[in-house]
Amino acid sequence: MQHFDVIVVGAGISGIGAAYHLQQNCPGRTYAILEGRPDIGGTWDLFRYPGVRSDSDMHTLGYSFKPWNAAKSIADGPSILEYLRETVAEFGIGPHIHFGHLVERAEWSTDDARWTVTGTRADTGESVGFTCNYLFMCSGYYSYKGGYEADLPGLENFAGTVVHPQAWPDDLDYAGKRVVVIGSGATAVTLVPAMADDAAHVTMLQRSPTYVVSRPDQDAIANGLRKVLPDGIAYDITRLKNTTLQQVLYKRMRTQPEKSKAQLLKMVRKELGEDYDVDTHFTPRYNPWDQRMCLVPNSDLFTAISSGRASVVTDLIDTFTPTGIRLQSGDELDADIIVTATGLQLVTLGEMDFVVDGQPVDFSKTWTYKGFAYSDVPNLASSFGYINASWTLRADLICEYVCRLLNHMDETGTVQCTPRLRASDADMPQRDWIENFTSGYMQRVMHKFPKQGDREPWINPQNYRRDKKMFKKSPVADGVMRFARARVVERAEPVAAAAD
Ligand SMILES: Cc1cc2nc3c(=O)[nH]c(=O)nc-3n(C[C@H](O)[C@H](O)[C@H](O)COP(=O)(O)OP(=O)(O)OC[C@H]3O[C@@H](n4cnc5c(N)ncnc54)[C@H](O)[C@@H]3O)c2cc1C
Repeated sequence: MQHFDVIVVGAGISGIGAAYHLQQNCPGRTYAILEGRPDIGGTWDLFRYPGVRSDSDMHTLGYSFKPWNAAKSIADGPSILEYLRETVAEFGIGPHIHFGHLVERAEWSTDDARWTVTGTRADTGESVGFTCNYLFMCSGYYSYKGGYEADLPGLENFAGTVVHPQAWPDDLDYAGKRVVVIGSGATAVTLVPAMADDAAHVTMLQRSPTYVVSRPDQDAIANGLRKVLPDGIAYDITRLKNTTLQQVLYKRMRTQPEKSKAQLLKMVRKELGEDYDVDTHFTPRYNPWDQRMCLVPNSDLFTAISSGRASVVTDLIDTFTPTGIRLQSGDELDADIIVTATGLQLVTLGEMDFVVDGQPVDFSKTWTYKGFAYSDVPNLASSFGYINASWTLRADLICEYVCRLLNHMDETGTVQCTPRLRASDADMPQRDWIENFTSGYMQRVMHKFPKQGDREPWINPQNYRRDKKMFKKSPVADGVMRFARARVVERAEPVAAAAD
């Protein structure tokens, strides 16, 4: 088996970022990226539906180390993929990526201070195996096997075409067709205006509304700064502006929900006119940021609705008929194509099996350490971004911290680092991995995720400012992350009895 100091699983935004940080900050370490698919990009390669784009700005979804220089800050999928390709080429990451390597299992041995990582090659079906000292999971947060299939009663009756956005057929011709998009999330609000240009009509059928906010797809300040300052400096200033603004707005919406709600709905009324039924179709039953908000660039969704090319129906499905959908109100929607934009299936850690010293790991029984590692699981990190800001902001912080950890191990001659609960942590209340977020796709799987406690480092705060302090300023040798030398087997502390 080939051995590497670090194995990264996944060559999406996170895995490519991890490679950059390892090269820059741990130049003496060998690493490989194992990627299950035939290409880089993860999300930005997989999703091919019309209009696929970011819904956060590229100055913060882009890496800290590589300026986003395009004019549009809300970017389409192909431009994001191109940015990732450029990153891979610029930093010589390509030769480290092993494509078509789907990893299925990782087994840690304390005696050897190594992970044995095994899987299957997509092209030959052959088994593959590697060993590494440190395993860095950059496998995203949803299943690549398929999207979430909601329970849609009688779907089999429908005689037309049914498509899930995660498996968009290259040859789907929707010109002149009547399309119904089921859903109200980011994917639905992207698809509706994108398809409305060519379709006969597009209907967004939603059970309940989501907050929708329009923003220009270009950042005038960022583009202005780039004209007078070097790209790197302009980018840093724009990132600071955007992260500060995001945090201020997020805090205001969480602390003043009623006022924020009124402002958001006023903006929608302005877009759609006083005659439009904003109460029914754009007024959610929850407060802003209880669920992720939907951003639409340049009011594209509202323009499509106002032009009559698209419409929103808020109703429940009774059943599907050969020609469309019968609704519980008694109305019928005729359709040639139905798009089930019903969301993602969230998973933990690349849907892999993990074993530590012969014991299977159940991540739901672990505590998160700073939202990137797991109690009693040695030499393992995973990248998980923000639900209320750009993913990469956090992915970058985690990478920097992992490099600090690895360098500390080099300096101290240690080979194993394991977060262990202190005796004083034994009474921590168990909180969800992500708190106060009511979206169905999170709620469905929250029980499978590790818990967080009520004190550092056992938290996953989903707060960029707090994370920055936690990842950049706190010492890696914090008394909770335990470091061990080769072949020194450190067992879990019996929490209730041990001294702190
Ligand atoms: C349509 C869409 C739009 C989005 N827009 C935004 C946005 O605007 N802003 C934002 O912050 N976030 C957005 N997100 C979230 C988005 O997924 C992240 O921003 C980011 O792309 C995640 O990068 P990642 O590398 O961590 O994971 P992914 O992009 O999911 O990549 C994971 C990679 O790991 C590989 N992999 C997984 N398991 C294994 C395994 N067992 N073995 C080998 N390889 C494996 C996959 O094949 C994939 O290549 C969006 C998500 C979707 C679906």
